[in-house]
Amino acid sequence: MNRGDSTMDTTQDGAAPAAAGQLAVQGDGVHKWFGRMHVLDDVSFEVASGEVVVVIGPSGSGKTTLLRCMNHLERIDRGRLLVNGHLIGYRENAKGGLTEESEAEIARQRQEIGFVFQQFNLFPHLTAIENVALAPIRVRKVAKDQALAEAGQLLGRVGIADKRDAYPRQLSGGQQQRVAIARALAMKPRLMLFDEPTSALDPEMVGEVLEVMRELARDGMTMVVVSHEMGFARGVADRVIMMDEGRIIETGQPGQLLDEPAHERTQAFLSKVLH
Ligand code: ADP
Ligand code: MG
Repeated sequence: MNRGDSTMDTTQDGAAPAAAGQLAVQGDGVHKWFGRMHVLDDVSFEVASGEVVVVIGPSGSGKTTLLRCMNHLERIDRGRLLVNGHLIGYRENAKGGLTEESEAEIARQRQEIGFVFQQFNLFPHLTAIENVALAPIRVRKVAKDQALAEAGQLLGRVGIADKRDAYPRQLSGGQQQRVAIARALAMKPRLMLFDEPTSALDPEMVGEVLEVMRELARDGMTMVVVSHEMGFARGVADRVIMMDEGRIIETGQPGQLLDEPAHERTQAFLSKVLH
């Protein structure tokens, strides 16, 4: 994103941006197999606090799996993956291996990580505002009135304050995805993960969701975004990671990676998505 613009260097609620150099995510030699399929093959990468990283790559290259590992929705088989400074889903055991954390501890770790899915995954029987307020009430134990007030503000922030009492089926895809983003933000995460958040949307709704994400980035949110929206990557990403066959084959600033890719497979991929 345009981080040279210093007026944008505070979060919306006035808090200072995270200290530079602090790592939100640190993957070190991460491997993952599904059966015999090697889905993540020695993946090492870092995401600094406040950074926006866009992950691209062909279908089946492991992008979703990598995001899901960052939230411990998937286990890793080898390597180390730290999120917000801690091994996600594991603790180191006396033998130097990893032991899975308790469900309670994993749930606690996940509170600091927002996840936005391609298919929104809203609760169909709850209104927009109830979708947003639910986890703060249930998990963060926020008083109902306060949670609803905060949820109302968040719906305003994503531009749909007037839809607070609508059910998901009454909302467009773009509106549902904005509710889903507000719902993730309601837990006050330190890191937001987006898995192709606009690819299930009708084309005319893509822009409104990207604009909400652009605002979030501007407010200093740390974001890992799997997306093939190259305009977003170009305008918002600090770095782009290119995956292929379970590996990170190239990473760089958007201008560099998208315009002068070093790897032939990046070139081939880009020529497909750009045309
Ligand atoms: P991408 O998001 O880049 O399209 P994925 O991470 O979804 O890639 O998938 C990577 C590979 O892992 C694919 O070959 C996919 O079919 C396989 N895969 C993903 N999830 C599972 C699963 N739960 N069980 C078995 N194979 C899976
Ligand atoms: Mg995917």
